[in-house]
Amino acid sequence: MFHGEKTLAQKLLPVWMDLGGKLTADLVQQPSPFGIGNVPRRMAVDATTDMICGYCATGCSLKVHLQAGEAVNLSPSFHYPVNRGMACPKGWEALSALEATDRGTTPLMRDASGTLKPVSWSTALDEFVGRFKSIQQKYGQESIAFLSTGQIACEEMAFLGALAKFGMGMIHGDGNTRQCMATAVTAYKQSFGFDAPPYTYQDLEESDVLVFVGSNLCVAHPIMWQRVLANPHHPEIIVIDPRMTETAMAATEHVALKPKSDLVLLYGLANRLITHRWIEREFIDKNTEAFEAFAEHVQAYSPDFVSERTGVTTEQLERLAQKIQKGKRVSFWWTMGVNQSYEGTRTAQAIINLALMTGNIGRPGTGANSITGQCNAMGSRLFSNTTNLLGGHDFKNETHRRKVATILGIPYEAIPDRDSLPYHQIIESILKGKIRGLWVICTNPAHSWINQSVCREILKHLDFLVVQDMYPTTDTAKLADLYLPAAGWGEKDGTFINSERRIGLIKKVGKAPGQALADFHIFRAVAEAWGCSEMFHDWTSPKAVFEKLKQLTEGQPCEISGIRDYQMIDDRGGIQWPFTEKDALRPSEESDHRRLFQDGKFFTPNGRAIFHFESPRTMPESPTKRFPFTLLTGRGSAAQWHTQTRTSKSPILQKLGAENIFVEINPRDARGRDIKPNMEVIVESQRGKLRAKAFLSPTVQPGQVFIPMHYEETNRLTLSHFDPYSHQPSYKNCSVDVRLAEAWDVE
Ligand code: SF4
Repeated sequence: MFHGEKTLAQKLLPVWMDLGGKLTADLVQQPSPFGIGNVPRRMAVDATTDMICGYCATGCSLKVHLQAGEAVNLSPSFHYPVNRGMACPKGWEALSALEATDRGTTPLMRDASGTLKPVSWSTALDEFVGRFKSIQQKYGQESIAFLSTGQIACEEMAFLGALAKFGMGMIHGDGNTRQCMATAVTAYKQSFGFDAPPYTYQDLEESDVLVFVGSNLCVAHPIMWQRVLANPHHPEIIVIDPRMTETAMAATEHVALKPKSDLVLLYGLANRLITHRWIEREFIDKNTEAFEAFAEHVQAYSPDFVSERTGVTTEQLERLAQKIQKGKRVSFWWTMGVNQSYEGTRTAQAIINLALMTGNIGRPGTGANSITGQCNAMGSRLFSNTTNLLGGHDFKNETHRRKVATILGIPYEAIPDRDSLPYHQIIESILKGKIRGLWVICTNPAHSWINQSVCREILKHLDFLVVQDMYPTTDTAKLADLYLPAAGWGEKDGTFINSERRIGLIKKVGKAPGQALADFHIFRAVAEAWGCSEMFHDWTSPKAVFEKLKQLTEGQPCEISGIRDYQMIDDRGGIQWPFTEKDALRPSEESDHRRLFQDGKFFTPNGRAIFHFESPRTMPESPTKRFPFTLLTGRGSAAQWHTQTRTSKSPILQKLGAENIFVEINPRDARGRDIKPNMEVIVESQRGKLRAKAFLSPTVQPGQVFIPMHYEETNRLTLSHFDPYSHQPSYKNCSVDVRLAEAWDVE
């Protein structure tokens, strides 16, 4: 690659966007446009069925082509309100992950020589129960914990959470959603009184000003980006991001602020809007509280101060405020650039504050809108029984515990009356010897956790590690004492909830290989082996559990009691929560796109949204002479998903993303270090180092470098630090050095 040259993914992006945007169900029998991989499955099709994609939280619907009940191909669903006939490369290639040769087909148990050897399910379950119970007997109930995921169905999450906490007596269990959504959850809960993303995707098309903060929508949520491109109002698109991302390149204005100065910038914007009286006083007075204190707080954020701290000129700051003021329908969107920060909660709330003070909420084309990451992150937020008690309830609330116990028909005492430790404290507790047994379900912390090398060492401290996954080849599964083979998306039934709160179906369109089982059935088997199956005697199928989830949400902001059954979800093109019996009586067109807070009433006890704010914190690790660069991380391409556990199985996706790790570095910085395009460099932090190819690009500013998150090596560099309220890891800033690789460099 040469200076300014695009990556392969950047080159191919317009190609597949064009294809993805135009291909319809009629065209799917044509050969793959790429002529590679396993896409051109030109097999006779005797039926089709629609189901939600198993990758990101956009929640596109895919039409799966069936032959004798088994999937042979797929295409994007044309009449689904989310994606309207479009899919990104991951969606098109969703079946390839099921066909991988390294699928787990039998339980594996580590023998005396340290080798994982195949065993029967009965031996595996005996080992699971025997080891975990003996740890609990020796070290107490809290000595075993679980780490779960935003990738399995709501019904499975609920089963796992109920089994672990009510049946097996665990107190601690968290999900990998802590790595992506915890900040948004905390911010919404504090500001709105409930974890309630207020928007519908229709808002992407109805805004006349869209503000994206720390969000590379074009790559991370490409179908949502297509919705922006379908906006007929010629909107202003403002991207606030240190890096000139693909989204920033396509924006009408890019605000290239200094890393982690977003909170100061947002307070500066509030200062301008208040100073000019460009605020909605009536809305503020009627529907919010603590505005006066907030206005006083942001007085200190004068244009000169903000400019000095953020690198944004006073003119640009003023222009941004003007654009927000002129917009009739302004929407604010954020993702990981905000959430994955040591001050993410307050930053998210600074965005919420802007929407509240300008009255940009509850109307079409508006909102303070957090975009979710994983396909069922929203389901995890409501039903995983980790940070919330089932159905968006509170473990610490006695009334909530009694309600849940009654609905589930379980002893009230079985429900813990306190919250789980958050993810990073579970890891710390392993190091301290307090947690000695861990059950990891469908996630890969040995790759994805911040400051990965330490995490790997800590996992080795465990007396017993169980990993339940589609593949025994993940970095975490390789460390396991016991591996349980799980079915994947497409091999089981259930529901997902997408970013706009839309519930959709996943379906079994293929048989899991060998003895692999759906997570749901693994949980049933564990309940039986543990001796608590009576508690779950009527948790017989995902459908049966969905009925319980409906009951659990009654009276909650996320109520879904109006959903008759799975068929109704299919018939209506997915259903957004809330969906009460009353909602069910409305014609389906009216309920296709619904946003929250249209009446100005929030979920706080007095119905008012609350302005939250705080002085910015110091960046925990600032650049030094030894480590002069700030490392930014993020998605590398639309063809790669998180740790690439699944996307790496597809030759097509492998071609669309950069196969090997690379580091983007500004040409000026590269010149000063004799680094030329494609040269091998060493990127090093205080915690570790990696070898990468240099990609010279002005998309990163001098003093900054960017490495995609997907590669195994990336988290060798990152620093363990966390938002104090959400406990979400701050992946987006640490200090590194970059130098040419020498012959003696070993990784
Ligand atoms: S945008 Fe997300 S949900 Fe849609 S096809 Fe791609 S990965 Fe799947």
